[in-house]
This record gives sequence, C-alpha cells and structure tokens, in this order.
Amino acid sequence: MIKTKYLVGALALMIIAFSCKGQGKKIASVVKQNEMVDFFADNGYGNAVAVVQHPAGIYHDGITYVCYQGPKEDPYVASYNHETKEWKGPFKAGVSEMGKDPTRKKKIDNHGKPSILIDDEGYIHIAFGGHGGMRKHGENLLGNHHYGKNLHAVSKKPLDISNWETLDNISPFGTYNQWIKMDNGNIYLFYRHGAHRSNWVYQLSTDHGRTFSEPVSFLKHKRRTDIEAEDSWYPWVTRGLGDDLIVAFDYHICRDRNNTQDERGHIPERHNVYYMVFNTKTGEWKNVRNERLPIPLTKEVADEKTLVANTGKDWTFQGTAKVDANGNPHIGMTMGPDVGKNTSGPKRMGYFKWNGKEWIQAQDSGLPVGNGDMELTPSNEIQFYLAEQIAGGTGEVALWDGGVNGETFQKTKILLTKPNANFAISALIENPHPDARLIVAERKPGTDYRKMYLLGDNGPIPRVKKEANVLEKSIK
Ligand code: ZN
Repeated sequence: MIKTKYLVGALALMIIAFSCKGQGKKIASVVKQNEMVDFFADNGYGNAVAVVQHPAGIYHDGITYVCYQGPKEDPYVASYNHETKEWKGPFKAGVSEMGKDPTRKKKIDNHGKPSILIDDEGYIHIAFGGHGGMRKHGENLLGNHHYGKNLHAVSKKPLDISNWETLDNISPFGTYNQWIKMDNGNIYLFYRHGAHRSNWVYQLSTDHGRTFSEPVSFLKHKRRTDIEAEDSWYPWVTRGLGDDLIVAFDYHICRDRNNTQDERGHIPERHNVYYMVFNTKTGEWKNVRNERLPIPLTKEVADEKTLVANTGKDWTFQGTAKVDANGNPHIGMTMGPDVGKNTSGPKRMGYFKWNGKEWIQAQDSGLPVGNGDMELTPSNEIQFYLAEQIAGGTGEVALWDGGVNGETFQKTKILLTKPNANFAISALIENPHPDARLIVAERKPGTDYRKMYLLGDNGPIPRVKKEANVLEKSIK
C-alpha cells in the first residue's frame, strides 16, 4: 500500500516534471522567436549612409521611411510604423550600375547611396547609383565622367515600399543626390553633374517627379590659371524660410595628379566655409547680405560674396545648415589640420552663425571630433547629432546642446554606443518623429556589411531579431 502510494507519487512528480520541461521549452522558443535586437537590418554595405546624400529618411503620417546602401551598392528602403511598432522591409528599390564588378580596384565606390522623397501624391522617390556616369552614357557637357549611372526609382503605389520602378528622367551623370520638396509640391533634385571637375546643378519637377527640367548649374567648376588644379565644390542644400533654399558649401582644390605644386598629387583637400540662398519663387540667388549672385557661381565671386570663413591651411569636410526663425543661418562644418600625408588630421565639428551683421565662429565650442547634422529647436537652441569614436575604439552617437548662444556645447544624451565600432551617420531625417531622428551604420573591422540603426530620443528602435537578419536573403 505504502509502496503503491509511493509509486503514484513518483509518477505524478514525473508527469509534473515532464510537463514543466515541455512548458520551459515552449517559453524558450517563444522568447527566441521574439528576441529583439537594436538594429533593423544587417545588410548595410560600405558607407551605407552619409550626411551628403540626403534626406536618407522621412517621417510621414505616422511612419518613418529610411533608405541606405545595401549589398552590391543597391538602394534599400525600410519603414517603421510608430503606432503599431511594425517594421517593413528592407526592400531593394533599384539596381545600381556600381558594386557589381569584382575586378574593380576600388571595391566599394560609395558615391551612389540613395536619398529619398515623398511627393504630394504619396509616391516615394529614390535617387541613387551615380558617380559621374560613364562614356557609354554620352558626353557630359557640364563636367567629367567617372562611374555608375544616376538613377531615379519610384514606388509603384503610394506609400508602399514593396515594389519599385526605375524611371528614365534624370541625368545619368549625377552624384550626391539631395532631394527637396517645396510647399507647392515642386521637387528639386540637386547633385554634382559628374566627377570632381563638374558643375553642381539642380533639376526641377512640377509634376511630382514624372518629368524634370534640364539641369541648371549653380556652382561652376573651372580651370585655375595660377596653379595646376581645378575649382570644385561640395554644397549641402536644404530648405530655409518660405520659398528659400539655403546652401552651405566648401571648396575642393582639385589638383592634377601630376601637378608640380603638391607632391601628394590629387588629394581630398577641401577648404573654407561658404553660404548662399536660392529664392525658388523669384529664381534669384543671393548672399547673406541679400546681394544678387550670378550663377553658376565662380570661385572668385564665391570668395568675394559668400565666404563665411577662410580656414587657411585647415581642411574642411561636409557642411550642414539651418536657419532660425529670424532667417539667420547656422552652419556646421568639420575642420582639421593638414597633417602632411594624404589626408587631414582629426576633424572637429565647427559651428558658425550669422548674427545679422557678421559671421561668428564658436571658439572652444567643446564639440568633438566627429560628424553629423545640426538642428534648431523651436526655442532656437542649437543642437548637433554627432557620431564619433571615443577612447578605446568605442563608437558613439550623441546629442550635443549649445543652448541659444552656441558658444559652448555639452553632450546631453547618448543615443547609441558600441565597442570596437564607428558609425557612418545620415543627415537628420526630414520632419522627424522624436523616436527616429537619424540613421547610422555600424562599421566593424573585418566586414563590409553593416548593422543599420534608426535612432531617436529613446535610442535605437528595436526589431525582432529574425526580421532584422536580412543579409543572407538580400545577397542571393
Ligand atoms: Zn578632385
């Protein structure tokens, strides 16, 4: 009797233990299925995003849409619904002519990263794939050739990123695409019309990106007569007040490879900070003092009329700009010393503002060696979102707040930090939701593929791991 009782008890225990084990397995597999990661995709490729190709993201009607360079340098688009917390994509939006040739010396060109726009009818547009075009694309009347073909893809349905078609309606010679939509729905596509020795242009569309005007040059490349070099430019264009567009730019002294002035030959040497305004209503270009500018602007007129700062021997990289409620411009530009090799030294973010009379540069701003974008809060506080590599090789993306004066900046929030990494950072997302202000790609040693993060005030937006692991699928 006792024995039987014992047996029944043991059997019951075994049953309980067995069912618990099953339950545990079940819970573990549910946890595994719903395991969250802080990146939304793992198929970023090369410098998957940058400040120059912008915007790389747009917030529209509850959803943030992002684009980046994926495998084989093709453009990819993903979206995040802030209410349902649902991710979609990434979907391949087109096929680049770059990134396909394994024999090419420079394996990843990186110039054809996508930028994104949503037209007034809800169609999503991507420009991508260009680095000056090739001879087979024809004669480039506004500059020189290099590689790739600038392309324009549009979503087949409004606000649907799953299907795309490539249209043949922009110049193949473009690179560094920058999209801008005005309040009346007009669309401007700004880009460099070729390789280094090319004009910067825009094409205007008044029919939601179905047709575009011929390219209009606004910055002129030109042979120098004093040294063996050519004038070249790097502008960053964005909206100002009303119908204005504002342009922050720096100058590239594009030396001949075999020039006799600098034994380094052709180097990525850039100098100075410039600023100008395009009134899209009147078609007039003006400087900060409201003086008319002849376009395409030459180096001579730029120096005389649009100079914000002469950086002397210091090199510059990647300006960004915003205007405040009074229409006064603010500019960020990274700057570093020429260190004598083939590059500059560490570049620190520089901050400039127009006070109504003159340009002021923040001295000892406290801003780090890093790059990114800036914005003005509704109360006119100056903020930078910057990626930098801090001590020990840790990558960090942080918010730096300069108050309303911008004399000194404090790191007030860290958005993302990863060991042994540095980040490629996008410009700020257009009209951003506070949870999704910018996109970064995590560079790790030993791989060309990148984890992609969508960052906002609460850090990265998470995603279910098995959804974010898209690399294997996308390289097939
Ligand atoms: Zn050059």
